[in-house]
Amino acid sequence: MEPTYPPLTDCILWEGALNSKGYGHLRVDGFDWLAHRYAYYKHYKKYPGKLMVLHSCDNRRCINPEHLFLGTNTDNMRDAIAKGRPIGRRGPGNPEKKHRWNHIKELFRR
Ligand SMILES: [Zn+2]
Repeated sequence: MEPTYPPLTDCILWEGALNSKGYGHLRVDGFDWLAHRYAYYKHYKKYPGKLMVLHSCDNRRCINPEHLFLGTNTDNMRDAIAKGRPIGRRGPGNPEKKHRWNHIKELFRR
């Protein structure tokens, strides 16, 4: 009898550029994206907005949408603590960034 649950998929590693933190990085229409964030957005057609796109596999280079889930910074910290990752500091929100995100949203509406 065949199992009814889907098999676990492997990580899909981003082959392009990496940023200083080891995350995949790409440029789309002049905007910088984290590769896993972009993958999440393209796959689920869901705009992450202020939420972070987190890895269930904890592999920063992974862009398999099945390994990506949305969470808050708090979730990420909790996850980091649970997995023993060092926690980075984030600066306060940049208003210019918000403008950029809105622009990106427009790009994908076309
Ligand atoms: Zn993965």
